[in-house]
Amino acid sequence: MSDKLTVNDNMVVSMDYTLHLDSGEMVDSSEGREPLAFLQGHGQIIPGLERELVGMAVGDAKKVTVTPADGYGERDAEALQVFPHDAFPDDMALSVGMPLHMRDTETGHVLQAFVAELGDAGVVVDFNHPLAGATLHFDVKIISLREATSAELEHGHAHGPDGHAH
Ligand code: ZN
Repeated sequence: MSDKLTVNDNMVVSMDYTLHLDSGEMVDSSEGREPLAFLQGHGQIIPGLERELVGMAVGDAKKVTVTPADGYGERDAEALQVFPHDAFPDDMALSVGMPLHMRDTETGHVLQAFVAELGDAGVVVDFNHPLAGATLHFDVKIISLREATSAELEHGHAHGPDGHAH
């Protein structure tokens, strides 16, 4: 194969990344860990980042700014709900910012949420993604690229070096 591989749909991409907010606060990074591996073109990462990676080769680095609409969405004020304190187990030490898994009583789906506020009126639970409404500033570097296996394409995600693990 003489063509240089570049990021495209159905390729497994490994990349190092760092994520900063407008404030300069770093909220996520692959530093000190394995690079993030994912299947390009299958919505495994946020759309605003996935789109900007197309055409990059191993060793290429780039800064990518992602608006909320292309990232984790805008904040929805309706996504706040107040629950009575006794809706939570007595031995559960709630704190602001604590992630929660809440079961939707209508659909049975488990929803990711976090504690926004602890007050006399109850526990304010925020069902927004913690990064909703945030403009995201990524520094990315492509570490490796390969064609996906048929199993990965079927599952819609990348598998680790030891094969199927999830
Ligand atoms: Zn799988």
